[in-house]
Amino acid sequence: MSDHIDHLLTETRRFAPPEALASESATDAALYERAADDRLGFWAEQARELQWETPFTEVLDWQPPHARWFHDGTLNVAVNCLDRHVDAGHGDRVALHWEGEPGDRRTITYGEMTAEVKRLANVLTSLGVRAGDRVAIYLPMLPEAVAAMLACARIGAVHTAVFGGFSPSNLRGRIDDAGAKLVITTDGGHRKGKVFPLKPTVDEALREPGHGVTNVLVVRRGENEIDWVDGRDVWYHEAMADAEPEHEAEAFPAEHPLFILYTSGTTGRPKGILHTSAGYLAQTSFTHRHVFDLKPETDVYWCTADIGWVTGHSYIVYGPMANGTTQVMHEGTFDTPTPERPWQIIERYGVTIFYTAPTAIRTFMKLGRQHTHSSDLSSLRVLGTVGEPINPEAWIWYRDVVGGGTTPVMDTWWQTETGAIMISGLASVTTLKPGSAQVPIPGIEIDVVDDSGASVDDGDGGLLVVTSPWPSMLRTIWGDDERYRETYWEKFGDRYFAGDGARKDEDGEIWLLGRVDDVMNVSGHRLSTAEIESSLVAHEGVAESAVVGATDATTGQAVVAFVILKESAAHHPVEEAERILRQHVASDIGAIARSRQVFIVPDLPKTRSGKIMRRLLRDLAEGRDLGDTTTLADQSVVEAIQSQLR
Ligand code: ATP
Ligand code: MG
Repeated sequence: MSDHIDHLLTETRRFAPPEALASESATDAALYERAADDRLGFWAEQARELQWETPFTEVLDWQPPHARWFHDGTLNVAVNCLDRHVDAGHGDRVALHWEGEPGDRRTITYGEMTAEVKRLANVLTSLGVRAGDRVAIYLPMLPEAVAAMLACARIGAVHTAVFGGFSPSNLRGRIDDAGAKLVITTDGGHRKGKVFPLKPTVDEALREPGHGVTNVLVVRRGENEIDWVDGRDVWYHEAMADAEPEHEAEAFPAEHPLFILYTSGTTGRPKGILHTSAGYLAQTSFTHRHVFDLKPETDVYWCTADIGWVTGHSYIVYGPMANGTTQVMHEGTFDTPTPERPWQIIERYGVTIFYTAPTAIRTFMKLGRQHTHSSDLSSLRVLGTVGEPINPEAWIWYRDVVGGGTTPVMDTWWQTETGAIMISGLASVTTLKPGSAQVPIPGIEIDVVDDSGASVDDGDGGLLVVTSPWPSMLRTIWGDDERYRETYWEKFGDRYFAGDGARKDEDGEIWLLGRVDDVMNVSGHRLSTAEIESSLVAHEGVAESAVVGATDATTGQAVVAFVILKESAAHHPVEEAERILRQHVASDIGAIARSRQVFIVPDLPKTRSGKIMRRLLRDLAEGRDLGDTTTLADQSVVEAIQSQLR
């Protein structure tokens, strides 16, 4: 059997950056040459864009699989994200335009955010939090979540953000694993027109003894009734009112731990990914500036990720704030009060850079383009996407309908583990191919290899590896260095195994093919989920699809497709739609990819970060019991599909 993943799709459309974008950008192709000539010198230059207390003298200390970057330097991450901009005269620049779901709004400048974080640093210290202690942040999309992360960073405490939708047992598992001593939460947040309580989840998580949490700091937002544990619970606003406004920030070593973040759990038991300070900040801020052609004086940037996921950490808090960016942040969902909400927000603030996930784009497609028409989206100049492979048709739709047919769409590949963007074009430089993540960013070295570790030829598929250490790489799995070695380094020695399948095209550019665990083997052909899904989505009636390989007596595995139809196609009889789509894939990319079954479903099982859980679909297709479903966003989706299969 071949190790290669068979390549099925072809894509010939190309999009150069608009003239004005290219000519007015501070980013140019020389970055690639500079990084190729002297990779470590290049990263040292990027790191020197930060404000250091003690400059570093050594760039990299690499003892595979452990790296230390800039390790003899010291700095304070929060000072780099806040005070530095105030000191440079930008205290009046807006840091956050915040939009509550019920329609309330707050505008917070860099000066105001700096003041908030200084006070909060004093509050944390008064609650006994010291450098190196862990703090769990269980907050929805509130400005206080940003302040909480930066206040931890300011005093050298290690935050672990837990997504606001997780259950008590999920939360408790993370509190215990991290050994948190403080939890920061809220009474409740607004979502889909209702207040959803968070504090009761914390109470429930802490009910059984055996944890190390001494205080719970509670932000008032939902104004819902909550229980109160005297001596343990502290109102945020009361503690802030009592706190000293001034706070002198201490510098910490470059490798001081910054945060632990548990991966989204698309594939199983969550891992506590540990990130440290300076290298992480250098790569997040570098990529944020150059991938999106950021102009901090004039751009208004909106990343729609939740703060509880890595994208919220790297591309709402650390990268953008280190760059002094003006951002939009929103509470709640895109469709409440109406599906026009995202487009109205873009118009209201004149958003210029918009960064979202394929799952959101496919939902916009499913709802139809008419929702975008009532708003003026002409301020947008760069779009971005992250989280899953973006199908070429969704890419084109995004560019045409949201971007007015002119904006570059930056498909950015990276992971919780990589900390920052690894593969992407640069908005003002790259001629883009819809569906390709393009090339490693300057200073990053990546290859696609077969099972034996040999590079595949251009045109072939294989496994994605990072061939040299990078500044924002994870340093270990918290409390489990053995699992760190096994998961990422055992397979290819000192090369990092990402767990994703990829293909280099004829130009050496990279296409992500989905997770290695999801690759199908049909009659000896290794087929990628991403390619067959892209073919399905290219059909005019299809909004979204997920493809899995189910055990098959004759072919080993057979392709089983789950498809959501667009609202405009929903009237077709199911049998007819299934037949048309099987035929469509067979004629589009070949008989080998023809699905044994196509199921028309109302929805797909997704993680809370919006990724399709193919593992569950495989279980469903094979009639097995479902494994761990705790990270599933909506349990009822599975039941709906199950009833369809019977
Ligand atoms: P877990 O590791 O717990 O299973 P997860 O992998 O979903 O969860 P993340 O770190 O949030 O957790 O996601 C990283 C993964 O998302 C990548 O390994 C890849 O599979 C996918 N991904 C992210 N961005 C892209 C992209 N631009 N193109 C294709 N796939 C992407
Ligand atoms: Mg992963």
